[in-house]
Amino acid sequence: MPNRQHVVIIGGGITGLTAAFYLQKEKEKGLPITYTLIEASSRLGGKIKTIHHDGFVIERGPDSYLGRKKSMTRLIEQAGLADKLVNNETGQAYVMSGGTLHRIPEGAVMGVPTKVGPFIKTKLFSPAGKARAALDLVLPRREEADTDISVGHFFRRRLGDQVVENLIEPLLSGIYAGDIDRLSLQSTFPQFQDVEKKSRSLILGMKPNLPQPSDRPGTYGKKKGQFLTLSSGLESLVERIEEMLEPESIWKNKKVSGVAREDTGRYRVDLEDGTNTHADAVILASPYSVTKQLLPEHLRVDGFHATPSTSVATIAMAFPASALKKDINGTGFVISRKEPTTITACTWTHRKWPHTTPEGMVLLRCYVGRSNNQDIVFESDESILRAVLKDLNSIMDITADPEFYYVSRWIQSMPQYEVNHKQQWEKLQANLSDHYPGVYAAGASYEGVGLPDCVASAEKAVMHIVENLRQ
Ligand code: FAD
Repeated sequence: MPNRQHVVIIGGGITGLTAAFYLQKEKEKGLPITYTLIEASSRLGGKIKTIHHDGFVIERGPDSYLGRKKSMTRLIEQAGLADKLVNNETGQAYVMSGGTLHRIPEGAVMGVPTKVGPFIKTKLFSPAGKARAALDLVLPRREEADTDISVGHFFRRRLGDQVVENLIEPLLSGIYAGDIDRLSLQSTFPQFQDVEKKSRSLILGMKPNLPQPSDRPGTYGKKKGQFLTLSSGLESLVERIEEMLEPESIWKNKKVSGVAREDTGRYRVDLEDGTNTHADAVILASPYSVTKQLLPEHLRVDGFHATPSTSVATIAMAFPASALKKDINGTGFVISRKEPTTITACTWTHRKWPHTTPEGMVLLRCYVGRSNNQDIVFESDESILRAVLKDLNSIMDITADPEFYYVSRWIQSMPQYEVNHKQQWEKLQANLSDHYPGVYAAGASYEGVGLPDCVASAEKAVMHIVENLRQ
C-alpha cells in the first residue's frame, strides 16, 4: 500500500460531511488516509438547518428524505441516530387549480393517472382534458426514445397540457423549483422514459409502480409514509457527524478559491485568505456554480448549469389550533403555476410530522418563489408574511397572525438539471479523470438533489479514493 494519502473535501454540506465521515471510518479501519474538510461558512450542514422553538422542530431547508433510497438511512444508522428515525403520516394531498383545492386523484404517480375511477371523478380536469390524457393509451412511443427531452415536452405529448399544468407541473416543481419545459427527463425522472420504452402507455405502464407505504412496521413505527426524518431535527445528524470527526480535520470560515495540479501530481488547494494546503485527492462538494470557478477553464463544461439555480424562500408559521377554522384533513397542497398566488406549496407540518408541533398548535410551512419569478424571495420577512397570509386567508380561511414565524431564504439554491444534463455531467467527469485524476465532484449539482442522492455521491467519491489507494 502506498504512503499516507491526504484528501481535501471542499464544502461542508451533507455531501462533504458524508465524505469526511466515511474517510474517517476508513482511517479507523487502518487505511493510511487523512482528510481536511474545508467549509466557507461558520457552520457545517449547508442547506440542513433546524430550529428548536418552544417544543417545535422547524426545518429551514430539507425536512425529510425518500426512505427507499437507502444511502441516507445507512448514514443515519452508522451515526447512531436510527432510534430517531420517523416516517411521515400519510394523508390526502391537494392541488390548487381554478381557485379551489382538489384532492390529488388516488393512484396518481407523480401526476400520472393509473386508476380510472378517481381520474374520471376529479374536477381538476375538464372532460376535454381527460379525453386528451386518455390518448396516452393509444399514442405510439417517441421515435427517439433514448434521447433526452424536457419533462414538460414529454408529458405534454403523452397526457396533454391540462394534466401537465394542473397536476404534474405543480408536483414536480415542488422538488426542482424549475421550469419543467427545460428540466431534463433523463436526469430527473428517467423511470418515465423507461416506462414509455417498455409499455408505451404511461397510464398502463405505471400501474405496477404505485408507491407502497413503508413496509417496516415495528422498525421505525407503524406502517406510515415513504418519507423519513429525524425526530431530533435533521441538523442533529450534522451535529452528530461533526462530533465523530477529528476537530483538527475541520476548517470552518475558510473559503477555497482554486484547485491546481502541481508537477508532482499532487493538488494545491488555495484559500481566499492567501494560504493553501496540499492534497493527493480532492472531493469538490460545493455547488457546481462554485466548483467551476475553482477549476481551470479547460475542465469546465460549456452550457452545464447554464441556467442559474432557482431562489426560493420558506416560511414556517405557528398558530394555535383554533386559528384553523377550515381544517382540511390532509398533509398539504401544491399550486398550479397559473394561479395568482404567492405561495407555491404549503405543508401542514403538524399533520405530516406530528413530532414537530406541540399539542393544540398548528405548524404550516409555505414555499414562495417560482422559476419564472423569484422577486418575492428578496422582499422583507414582513412582506413575505403578509403575502402568504393573504393566500392562506383565501385558501384556508385563516385570519389570525401566527404566534411566531421564520422566513428562510435559499438564494440560487435549487440546481436546474436541464436537457442533456447527464451528457454534460459525464463530460465533466471525463475532464476530471483525464486531467485531474483523483479529483471528484459530488453533491446536489449532479446526480440528484435529494439528500440520499447527495450522500450516495459522496459514498461513490470515497469509494474511488479508497480503491485507488488499495491498488
Ligand atoms: P450544500 O448543502 O449547498 O453544501 C455546500 C457547502 O459548500 C455549503 O456549506 C457552502 O457554504 C460550502 N461552500 C460553498 N463554496 C465554498 C468554497 N468556495 N469553499 C468552501 N466551502 C464552500 N432534499 C431532500 O431530500 N428532501 C427535502 O425535503 C428537501 N427540501 C429542500 C428544501 C429547500 C428549501 C432546499 C433549498 C433544498 C431541499 N432539498 C431537499 C435538497 C437538499 O437539501 C440539497 O440538495 C442538499 O442539502 C445539498 O447538499 P450539498 O452538500 O450538496 O450542498
